Amino acid sequence: MQPANAKLNAFPVFMRVDGEAVAIVGNGEEALAKARLLSQSSAVLRIVADNANAELLAFIAASGSVHLNAAYEVAHLRGAALVFAASGDEALDRRVVDDARRLGIAVNAVDRPELCDFFTPALVNRAPVAIAIGTEGAGPVLAQMLRGRIDRMLSPSFGRLAALAASFRAAAETLPKGNRRRRFWSDFFAGAPAKAIEAGELAEAHSAALDLLAQNTPAEGYIALVGAGPGAEDLLTLRAHRLLMEADAIVYDALVPEAIVAMGRRDAERLPVGKRKGCHTKSQEEINALLIELGRAGKRVVRLKSGDPLVFGRAGEEMAALREAGVGYEVVPGVTAAFAAAADFELPLTLRGVSSSMVFTTGHDLKGNSLPDWAKLAISGATVAVYMGRSVAAEVAGRLIEAGLSPDTAVAVVENASLGNRRRFHGTLADLPSLETRADLTGPVMTIIGDAVAGANFEHSEPLATRKHEQAASVAAEGVEK
Ligand code: SAH
Repeated sequence: MQPANAKLNAFPVFMRVDGEAVAIVGNGEEALAKARLLSQSSAVLRIVADNANAELLAFIAASGSVHLNAAYEVAHLRGAALVFAASGDEALDRRVVDDARRLGIAVNAVDRPELCDFFTPALVNRAPVAIAIGTEGAGPVLAQMLRGRIDRMLSPSFGRLAALAASFRAAAETLPKGNRRRRFWSDFFAGAPAKAIEAGELAEAHSAALDLLAQNTPAEGYIALVGAGPGAEDLLTLRAHRLLMEADAIVYDALVPEAIVAMGRRDAERLPVGKRKGCHTKSQEEINALLIELGRAGKRVVRLKSGDPLVFGRAGEEMAALREAGVGYEVVPGVTAAFAAAADFELPLTLRGVSSSMVFTTGHDLKGNSLPDWAKLAISGATVAVYMGRSVAAEVAGRLIEAGLSPDTAVAVVENASLGNRRRFHGTLADLPSLETRADLTGPVMTIIGDAVAGANFEHSEPLATRKHEQAASVAAEGVEK
């Protein structure tokens, strides 16, 4: 996250230069580099060079730039929209800068940031779309690196798509504002017109866009039940990311990190709905009703749940309510907490010859008289992942030992799996009850039990059992299904 006080000393703007003169003073490499950069625009280049090197001369000839083959004088700058002092000679560059300022023209002096009114960006050019990267002179290498990355992300045909979009601007204005118009544009950029442009079929793209305009069905609401992953932003799937950027409304649980919610459009509605143990902002029935209401209003909704939406996320109830109400939905899987915790511990959830099955449980069903089936699986070697297990840690350990699982069975616990502040603990089933009374664990906790745990890497983990005086009840931050 950007600290609130991080301010830009140079603010990026796009300057209109079409048909305007841009003066570049210099004979060599620096002048050529600026001329090349500026020649990506439709400005008229005026190159002041009384002793231009061969490369610069070749560039001037090939680009049709104006060449003033004379010793620099202030008159060369008159009428220019921008000036570049690129002579490599400090005294001359200073003179050019002073002259430009006197004429009221913004000036850039190559490699002399202290003399610059503006800086030139590293540029990704997909005209009419431009992505300008500035580092305020701090890191030209960084800027080039970013440029390379962004360049690879954007197909070469991107500019043609943007140009086609510009030609449809007026037509799109005739669509009702809001959902309908937004959907036209997102279908335009992600649907048939974009695909046709990519394939080089300009006419086809045009008619596909006309088809989209003509579609006059009212926008249908749609809910995507999306897994936000265990916490780390980059464990989000690409599909989840795309849907988030398209969503009109984002309905999210408390365990979903703010950074992921923030990936949505700036104008998307953001609706937090709970749920943390002890502070349920909304009941499940209220959440179901909210989703139906948003869907009926024609919104595209992302219902974000931590981890995977189908694992202890009450997605079953939400899907049933949506089906009943006739609102369309889809499910986008996410990385569930057990997988993130296992990865953090380099823990093989299945291990050849040791464990070939896996149980996802909350342990909250161990309280009755009869042992649930999963406990039997644990005894026969399954790896057990316990969600929301902190407050029942003693119960889980006690009942499993009673049922015949060895107290020496390995246990791994991860708090804040996948996040920078994660903590890892290891011990045995006999140590597990201590989890309930640890005051120092305030984030969500995943417990993994079984012989396969012995295959984990304990290098970065602490012993699970704590000394008595450190113990105090703390279950407050545990996300819970209620
Ligand atoms: N649908 C989620 C689970 C929701 S239940 C999923 O698939 O992961 C909430 C429980 O998940 C928490 O009590 C905790 O046991 C576990 N959990 C969620 N995020 C976690 C994380 N980053 N680290 C450890 N456990 C986590």
